[in-house]
Amino acid sequence: KTALSDGVGYFGNVEVGRDVTIAELQDIYDAIVLAVGAPRDRKLGIPGENKTGVFGSADFVGWYNGHPDFTDLKPKLNTETVVVIGQGNVAVDVARVLVKTPEEMTETDIADHAADAIDASPITDIHMIGRRGPIEAKFTNVELREMGKLADCQPVINAAQLPDEVTGDWSDRDKRLKDRNLATMKEFLDISPEDKSKRVHFSFYAKPVEILGGDAVEGIRMENTKVEAGRSVGTGEFFEIECGLVIPAIGYFSDPFPGVPFDADNGIVIHDEGRVGDGIYAVGWIKRGPTGVIGTNKPDGDIAATQIFEDITGGAKPGREALEALLEERSVPRLSFQDWLRIDEAEMAAAKPGAPRRKFVTIDTMIGALN
Ligand code: NAP
Repeated sequence: KTALSDGVGYFGNVEVGRDVTIAELQDIYDAIVLAVGAPRDRKLGIPGENKTGVFGSADFVGWYNGHPDFTDLKPKLNTETVVVIGQGNVAVDVARVLVKTPEEMTETDIADHAADAIDASPITDIHMIGRRGPIEAKFTNVELREMGKLADCQPVINAAQLPDEVTGDWSDRDKRLKDRNLATMKEFLDISPEDKSKRVHFSFYAKPVEILGGDAVEGIRMENTKVEAGRSVGTGEFFEIECGLVIPAIGYFSDPFPGVPFDADNGIVIHDEGRVGDGIYAVGWIKRGPTGVIGTNKPDGDIAATQIFEDITGGAKPGREALEALLEERSVPRLSFQDWLRIDEAEMAAAKPGAPRRKFVTIDTMIGALN
């Protein structure tokens, strides 16, 4: 609805830094809002991280979601055991997609290449490992509960790792979430294995120290941990898990945005309450770092809108037509919102029965669909 209003101009397939610079945009527009997120993986920083068979969650999620940048990732899933590092919602998403049945996948818009590869893989066991305990785990309750509803997968938890109750210094809101998570994990203990062929093992108090193998991953060496003053501390005891795939899901990171100052330590643009520079504002993960669900990002939009109203009086820059002319002059093949709608329709028309859509997984095929 918003995109269809006259006040909104959509410029698809245009990259700042490649097709137009931020300085040129500053000449054309009174205000520029950076809402570019945090698309890269944070690194574990341990030996063996570059072996074949280690895929950060941003790349891996991009691959199964059909993001054109990751279509060629082609992770080899020829392993029974997968280790997912981290216990946030992304770790849950990744673990869950690897154990879904073809029927469960049919209802989603997972890319065909990923659904086929997962279906053909011999994966039976996913170890989702947290460096702290069940109370400190970051996943939210709706996402955690989904793990108990899978058709052919059993959540497995070592009862000895679950405390009787939530202790510690938490806000009321966090305490309620942690109470719910603990209750859900206790319910998982009661799910009988029936005849399920796959398992997601929730393991706590262990951090990765080395990824093992030759060129390809053959296992991972972990150190047991304990939590002291909220932090994970190694105990000096180690263990190994044999596996052919390691997926660190330990958080995201932003690339520097071309033309604006960047805080490389925190992976965000340098800003003052969201103000980045002359007429430039930031919202979301490029402003705050990669935490928070969609609702957490909404107030950023309000703040940026308020700042724009405060800062800009009687804007006089040429706006949309000047950008259209500049891209035309450079022969940039930009897509309009009508083009976006046609690509969207073509994806929905190509959906298999039960699925919402069948995604184009390369930019060429998206643009080709317009012809
Ligand atoms: P996250 O919630 O910050 O979780 C990251 C996990 O990785 C934590 O368990 C963290 O442990 C662990 N970790 C970090 N560094 C590590 C290291 N060096 N070694 C071992 N473990 C490490 O991040 P996320 O899962 O990427 O999610 C990002 C945001 O998107 C979150 O706010 C999430 O809720 C949101 N999201 C929401 C949904 C949804 O609503 N369905 C889906 C996906 C993502 P520590 O706690 O010890 O640091």
